[in-house]
Amino acid sequence: CGIVGVTGVDQALPCLLHGLQKLEYRGYDSAGVYLMDNNGGQAYIKEKGRVSMLAKKAEANGFIGTAGIAHTRWATHGNVTVENAHPQKSADDRFFLVHNGVIENYQELKAEYLPNVHFVSETDTEVAVQLVDKFATEEGLSNVEAFRKMISLLDGNSAYGFLLVDSQEPGTLFAAKKKSPLLVGVSDHGNVVTSDAAAMIDITKDFIELRDGDVAIVKADSVEVFDADKKPVDRKTFTLEIDP
Ligand code: GLU
Repeated sequence: CGIVGVTGVDQALPCLLHGLQKLEYRGYDSAGVYLMDNNGGQAYIKEKGRVSMLAKKAEANGFIGTAGIAHTRWATHGNVTVENAHPQKSADDRFFLVHNGVIENYQELKAEYLPNVHFVSETDTEVAVQLVDKFATEEGLSNVEAFRKMISLLDGNSAYGFLLVDSQEPGTLFAAKKKSPLLVGVSDHGNVVTSDAAAMIDITKDFIELRDGDVAIVKADSVEVFDADKKPVDRKTFTLEIDP
């Protein structure tokens, strides 16, 4: 339902929790966050119910991070449980993914590509992150190639805003969208990705709106956007005219 991600900020957790709070009005049933820093530190926290419950659990955990991804879920596939909340992760705990939308052919993909993988959730989303992991770790694809290959297998009716991180590549966010909004926010004190620009205006008001089929690689001090033909593109930045 709602996506926020940050990289290159002093304190990722408060930025992400604040962003999730701004997305609350859209409705959701559970929420979660994955945090990382450049020294191998990480935290993975999910909770049913309100963002304030997630915040309590995350603050008790104590890890803040300098990058991370977070999500408010509106369940479409699988009940409202902690396991089904996002981020979803790969079985080897390497990749973490948040997703807005629906993967129509997730059962077919699971049967064809992942017959021996142990799944912990009932979501369509977990198939996507397990596929990325398979293509990166077994087939040796780069992260962006593995991400693209997963996307290429989704059936045409699927809708997605995806935000992916690799625990082995801290600080890099991989974003892609189709039929679901996703924006990259840029600033000289960190970059963000969000499904709703208003959620991140405390960090920046300068945004790039991704188009269907785009893939973006967002780091602390760089943003690269590629179109559906894998060509680098220069998408215009717009400035949001709204008060925080
Ligand atoms: N289809 C996904 C799920 O049920 C994502 C739902 C959403 O957009 O929040 O977990």
